[in-house]
Amino acid sequence: MITARFYQRIAQRNVLNTITTLRETQFLPYERIREYQFNKLKKLLNHSYENVPYYRRIFEEIGAEPKDIRNFNDFKRIPILTKEIIRNDFNRLIAKNISEHELIPNSTGGSTGEPLSFYQDHNYELWADAARIRGWYHLAGCESGDTCAILWGAMHEVKEDFSFLERLRDIFKSGEIWLNAFNLSDERKIEFMRWCQFFKPRLLRGYVTAIKDLAFFLENHNLSFPRLKGIIFGAESVDNNTQEYIEKIFGAPSYNTYGGRELSLIAMECSYKNGLHEVSENNYIEFEAIDLVGYKNAGNLIITNLNNYAMPFIRYRIGDIGIPGTVQRCGCGRGLPLIAQVIGRTTEVLVFHDGTRIAGEMFIHLMKDFPLTEYQFVQTSDSRITLRFKRSDKVNDKLKKNIRQTYKAYLPKNVKILFEAVDSFDKTVTGKFRFVLRQYTTQ
Ligand SMILES: [Zn+2]
Repeated sequence: MITARFYQRIAQRNVLNTITTLRETQFLPYERIREYQFNKLKKLLNHSYENVPYYRRIFEEIGAEPKDIRNFNDFKRIPILTKEIIRNDFNRLIAKNISEHELIPNSTGGSTGEPLSFYQDHNYELWADAARIRGWYHLAGCESGDTCAILWGAMHEVKEDFSFLERLRDIFKSGEIWLNAFNLSDERKIEFMRWCQFFKPRLLRGYVTAIKDLAFFLENHNLSFPRLKGIIFGAESVDNNTQEYIEKIFGAPSYNTYGGRELSLIAMECSYKNGLHEVSENNYIEFEAIDLVGYKNAGNLIITNLNNYAMPFIRYRIGDIGIPGTVQRCGCGRGLPLIAQVIGRTTEVLVFHDGTRIAGEMFIHLMKDFPLTEYQFVQTSDSRITLRFKRSDKVNDKLKKNIRQTYKAYLPKNVKILFEAVDSFDKTVTGKFRFVLRQYTTQ
C-alpha cells in the first residue's frame, strides 16, 4: 500500500537510523556482535549502578562495581531477576535520573500467569520498533507499510470489530488488515477475506492456531488467499506438520518468531530454518540449565534488555525455556546467534509427583500420529492429565488405549490420563490457544 509506506516513513522517521543500523549489524560476524553487545551491556551496568537503587544494592551485595564485570562470565555474578523481585522491588528498579513523564507503562497480558507491570522508555521503543520492522517485514522481503493481514487478539489492541471507515484508515495508514483472533466466526472470516481479496496483502502475521484455523476454512470452502511473500508466526509454539500445512494452503514460506511484551521481539527465524536468530542488538540471552525429559541442553531463558534505561531488566528470567543453537554459521549470512528451539512457557512444563518435569512440546510431538484435529492437554493435579478432544473426532476406546500406551512410556508411574470430549476449547484472555496447560501450581 503506497500511502501506508509513505505514512510509515513519516511516522517512523525517528526510527530510520536504527533500522539502518539493524540492517547492517545482523550481518556482522558473530564475535563482533558479541563485542557490540558487551559495549552496550557495560553502559547499561554503569547506568544501573549509578541510578537504579536495586542494582546499587545488588553490586554491593556481590562486592563488585561495574568495572569488575570484564566479560560475559563475570556478568553471571549478577543474580537473576525474577518476576517476584520485580513485583516486590518495583520502585527500587526505576532509574532515579529518568523523569516521570518519560516512563511508559506496559504489562504482560497474564495469559500464562499473573500479569506483570513495568516501565519502558523511548529508547527501548525505538529499538523495539526497528527490530519488529526487520523481523516482521524485511525478513520476508517486504518493507514497512506493505499490506499485511493480521490475525491477532490482544485484548486492548483489537476491539470487538471494526467499522468500514476504521478498516480503511488502518489500511491506508499502516497497511494492516485485522481479524480478531478472539472471534473467528465464519462470517468474520468471509468479511476479512473480502478485504484481503481487494487489498491483496503481501504478508500474513498472527497466532499459529488462528492462521491454521483460517487455513482449514480456506481448504473447506475451496477459497484461495491472495499471493503472499511470507507468513509470520508469533506468540505460540508451532510444530513442523502445522508449519508445512499452512505453507501448503497459503503457498508461501513461513517464519517463526519469538517475543514478549517485556522485551519485544526476541528472536526470528530466517529462511534457512536453523533455529531462531536472536535480536542481539536489543537483548543479551543466556540459558540457565535445567533438567527436562527428552531435551538435552534445555535452559530457562535469562534475558537482559540492552536499551531500556527506565527500568532495567538485567538477567531477567522470562519464564520460557530454550535450547541454544549448534549451527555456527547460518547460510543466510547473519552473525546473530541462534536459539535452536523455544520450547514454551515454563507453565507449559508439567511437573509430576516425583519431581519429573516434562515439556508441553513433548505431549504435542507424541500426538502427531493420532488422528485428532484439535486437542488440549490439561494437567489438573500432580498425577492426573485430561486430554480434551473435539466431540466430532469420536475418540473410541481403542484409540484411547493407544494414546494411553504411547504416553505411559514417558510419564512417571501412577499418572492417569483421562479423556474429555468438548465442543470448543478455552483460549487465554488474549485469545491464544495452548495445547498444553497446567491448572494446578507446585511449590
Ligand atoms: Zn539465518
